[in-house]
Parts: sequence; structure tokens; C-alpha cells
Amino acid sequence: MKYDLVVGLETHVELLTKTKIFCSCANKFGSEPNTNCCPVCLGFPGTLPKLNREVVNFAIKAAIALNCEVNLLSKMDRKNYVYPDLSKAYQISQFYEPICKNGYIMLDSGKKIRINHIHMEEDAAKLVYKNGDTYVDYNRGGVPLLEVVTEPDISSSDEAREYIEKLQMIMRYIGVSDCRMQEGSIKCDVNVSVKPEGSDKLGTRTEIKNMNSVTFMTKAIDYERDRHIDLIESGEKVVQQTMRYIEATNSTESMRSKEDAQDYRYFRDPDLVDIILTNEEIEKIKKTLPELPDSRFKRYVNDLEISEKDAALLVKYKNVSDYFENASVNLKIPKTVANFIVGQIFRTIETEAEKEKFEILTTPEQLNEMVGLIESGKLTMNLAKKAFSKMLESGKPVTEFVSESDMQGIPPEEIEKMCKEAIESNPNAVKDYLSGKEKALKALLGSVMRQTRGRGNAGEIEEKLKELIK
Ligand code: ADP
Ligand code: MG
Ligand code: ZN
Repeated sequence: MKYDLVVGLETHVELLTKTKIFCSCANKFGSEPNTNCCPVCLGFPGTLPKLNREVVNFAIKAAIALNCEVNLLSKMDRKNYVYPDLSKAYQISQFYEPICKNGYIMLDSGKKIRINHIHMEEDAAKLVYKNGDTYVDYNRGGVPLLEVVTEPDISSSDEAREYIEKLQMIMRYIGVSDCRMQEGSIKCDVNVSVKPEGSDKLGTRTEIKNMNSVTFMTKAIDYERDRHIDLIESGEKVVQQTMRYIEATNSTESMRSKEDAQDYRYFRDPDLVDIILTNEEIEKIKKTLPELPDSRFKRYVNDLEISEKDAALLVKYKNVSDYFENASVNLKIPKTVANFIVGQIFRTIETEAEKEKFEILTTPEQLNEMVGLIESGKLTMNLAKKAFSKMLESGKPVTEFVSESDMQGIPPEEIEKMCKEAIESNPNAVKDYLSGKEKALKALLGSVMRQTRGRGNAGEIEEKLKELIK
């Protein structure tokens, strides 16, 4: 029998707020253990949490960017469980009335992955295992998170990858999270089930917890799919449970039987007031959002005639896209700028992390100036490419590398003289060209270009040659 894979993702996005969600401790990654904590985030009796308004603003930004509705009334709830990473023995989260609902992320295919809701919650502390002992670092306790929960709309591990990459990109654009998987600032719980092909009844799911690499996530999904199918084919049943992915063996193992909402005894947190928002506030925040990557991508492809491949590379990181925008100001053909970024700048950058930072010596204004000279006919593409390599190494402007005479071009009389010489010294090429071999002209063109030391305009020279030969 053939099966359909069904996947739903619950993604935790750690927010870049200055302070934690319910106290004024710093929200910082990489500090000395247990230096960013206080009686509130440790949950001492007698302390009271107070919701950080910046978290609410970030949630609203995320809602707008992910096509969600914002609930004008939402509340905080307690999720009760006992574990050393949670000194209060409950996590403050949103269960009954989350802040956002009903959104989607659109994949390149046009398929929408629906988002059921987004809620705000606090992160738990971090357990550190060392030499057989377990330590607790409470710096992470109380760090604000958004949990983005999809409908079970994802039907392959490739779609899951695309969804996560789009989510990362959007969160980075709007500045709410850096979404670094390795640092744990984005994490995924993956729900997987299979059903007979075309059936509309969902199968029993398992949930793989805490995936912190996209590659491992896709492997885990494929492994679970195959495991479910094997169980069903051999007449057994899939048991609903919570799994852990083992990287070393690329397999999963059971962590615990699946807990139900009632196991957590969710109830309204009596320490926190209702979160009441107005449409005016939401509109105001909407105005602060930058243009989103999807919209930029469409504009680059449709209006600027940049290839889809290059446009995707430009929008992937906001810094790159912003650089492109700034370097294109007032130019006739921004595509030339795109070609310099993708063709020359990217070649000097090795890692994705460096691409994301996009710290290069040449400023967008300098690239803008250089492309301006190309557009006004003062600089040939050939010379520009050479100069640009030196600009990238030195951070100096184009005028340091091309002389006045370079930028004046070559007088037409001189071009004509060079063309005549080339024709005289290559009689065979001329004969070939006259007998219909278009290619033969290239040999003549090449010889003239060499004479101009790359400063000539190839189009002009070609025209001149044709004129002289006929
Ligand atoms: P819980 O909170 O108990 O984990 P939810 O009903 O909130 O359960 O669902 C959590 C996630 O699991 C959602 O992303 C949802 O789309 C996904 N999901 C639910 N049922 C299935 C299923 N049968 N197969 C795959 N994913 C599922
Ligand atoms: Mg879950
Ligand atoms: Zn604190």
C-alpha cells in the first residue's frame, strides 16, 4: 500500500528582547552560568511576575508577518510539571487564549502551511551534563519564547525544511529573533504520522522533541515515517508517544508516553492580568515592519528582471538585501548591482554565518558610484570587474583604481584605426566571416579588445568591424 506522510511542527522561537519575559534580568546568550537570574525568574514564593511589553510587541510583529489575526484579549496560563529545569514547578505559557491565531507561511510551490496559533511563554532553565553530574543554569529560565504551531499540513521532509527556513528568514527580517539553530534560539517539536494514500483520516502520531538542526529534523521525519509504515505493514499499531532523535544512529527512541493537556493541569495564572490590545496599537506596530522577503523577492524578479535564483540569494539574509537596496539607489539597471553581489562579493565570503553578517569593506555607496559610471558609459564592464576586486580588498572607492583616461573611453578614430589593423593582419578571419562564419568576427574583436587593454566597448567595436568589412 502507498502512504501519505503528515507532519505538524511546533517551533519555539527565542526572542531578542533586552530583558526576560516576567522580570528585569538580562536576556543574554553565553553569560556565566546563573548570573542572569533573580527571585522572580527563579519562582521564589512571594514574588510576582510582570509581563514585558516588548514580548507582546514582538508577538504582534510575528503575527502580522505570518498572516495571523491578533487576539485583542489573551491570557497567561500555568503549565504544571516537575523537573529540575523548572524551579517553580510550572511554566507560564498561553493555553486557552493565545495571542495570535489562523495564519500561514506560503511555500514556493504556492502551498500554504497553515499556522493554528502563536503563543508566548517562558523558556525553562538549561541542564548541563558534565562528568556524570547534572548542573542547572537558570540564565535561560524566563527567557521569552514564541511557539508557532502549524496545522498538520506538511507532507514531506522537504516541505518541513522549506517551512522552517522561511520562518527563520521572516523572524530575522522583522528583528524578533536571530533563529540560530546551533545556539538553540529556534527549536522544533516534530509531529509525524502516516495514512493510506488519499485518506482523509489522520493516523496516530508520534512527537519528536527538541530538534535543533534542520538536517537532523528532515532525517528524523523520514526515519519516523518509515518506522510507522513498517509497523502498520507488519500488522502492528503505532503507539502515540514522545520520541527522542539519536544523531549517531539516525534513529529515534521512546522518551515517554504522550502526555495529554490534562496531565499538565493547565489553569489561568492568577498572578498576571489579561492582555488587552487595541486595533490602533496593532496598526502602529504594523507601520514599523520592514518589507518582507516574499515581497522583495517578487519585486526583484518581476520589476528588476533578476533571475529567481539570484533573487533568492539576495533576499535570504536581510543584511544582503538591504545592501542591495542601498547600492541600487537611483540606478537605471539594479540588476547590474545584483550581478556584482552574487558574482563577486559572494565569492569572497565562505560561510553562511558570514553571509548573514555581510560585513564587507566596500560600502553600498561605493558600489553605487561604480555602477553609475558603467551606466553613463564612462567605465567598461571589464574594467569595472577588475576594479571591484581591488575595491573589495581595500575598501577604497573606484576612483582609486581607474584613471581619468580609463574613464574617458577611447576616441572613435583610434578604435577605427585598431579595427583596420586587425582586419589587415587577419585576412583568413575576414574571409571566413564573409563566407558566413559569424564566429570568425570574434577573433577580430578579441584582437582589438586586447589592444584597448579591456577599455574598449565590445558592442561598439563589433559594429565598427562589420561596417569596415562589408
Ligand atoms: P499537543 O499540544 O498535544 O502536542 P496539538 O493538537 O496541539 O497537540 O498538536 C500539536 C501539533 O501536532 C500540531 O502542529 C499539529 O498540527 C500536529 N498534529 C496533530 N495531529 C497530527 C497527526 N495525526 N499527524 C501529524 N501531526 C499532527
Ligand atoms: Mg506538542
Ligand atoms: Zn529574573
